[in-house]
Amino acid sequence: PTHKPSYKRVLLKISGEALMGDQGYGLHPPTVARIAQEVKSVHDLGVEICMVIGGGNIFRGLQGSAQGMERATADYMGMLATVMNALGMQAALEELGLHCRVISAIRMDEVAEPYIRRRAVRHLEKKRIIIFAAGTGNPYFTTDTAATLRANEMNCEAIFKGTKVDGVYDKDPKKHADAKRYDTVTYDEVLQKHLGVMDASAIALARDNDLPIIVFSLDEPGGFRGILAGDGTYTRVHG
Ligand code: UDP
Repeated sequence: PTHKPSYKRVLLKISGEALMGDQGYGLHPPTVARIAQEVKSVHDLGVEICMVIGGGNIFRGLQGSAQGMERATADYMGMLATVMNALGMQAALEELGLHCRVISAIRMDEVAEPYIRRRAVRHLEKKRIIIFAAGTGNPYFTTDTAATLRANEMNCEAIFKGTKVDGVYDKDPKKHADAKRYDTVTYDEVLQKHLGVMDASAIALARDNDLPIIVFSLDEPGGFRGILAGDGTYTRVHG
């Protein structure tokens, strides 16, 4: 039977670390290719997809500033790291025959388009996959906040946050055998109990705009498509 996806347009947020596979650093091309395949399988359902990829596999502003670097400069380096990840993912998606645009919040005309909201919407309407790079373009923010901002601007129905586990748990399921997964959880509970879905400013921005966050496992082959097609396990963060 053909499954009808219940979402028309979504934003997929993945951390930079999702791209590094078993390496301790950087991009692992087979892992990038595997994630691209997951994205394609959802795109094949007719869902419009934009993506935000973090930069933590290459550089994090907080790490730099902890070692004495000026915070704003370190954050710009983190934002540039996300552009490298975006280009790697774009190449992998194109390898699968998909059309993909990288849109950077920091101008870099030779490698990425500048962010023009209406133009980005048009790309989605034409079924091109967008990767939003360079975060929000501002230091002191994270790519989680960038994901929430862009998902709102693009009128996405939800943010899909791909992680290593299939949802939000009351404690770390990799460390505690009795950890319990929430089917649904409110934004306020996430903030009060420090459930570590996304950082607090991203959660608050999602809450203020009623944007659901679907937390799911990106390690589960076919998991992303399964949720879009109406099954699979995940946690829905909502109001
Ligand atoms: N960053 C920033 N502003 C933004 C988004 C990101 O300054 O709007 C910087 C920040 O230094 C951050 C780094 O980029 O540490 C990488 O992003 P993030 O830590 O969110 O990546 P992830 O943890 O998702 O891999």
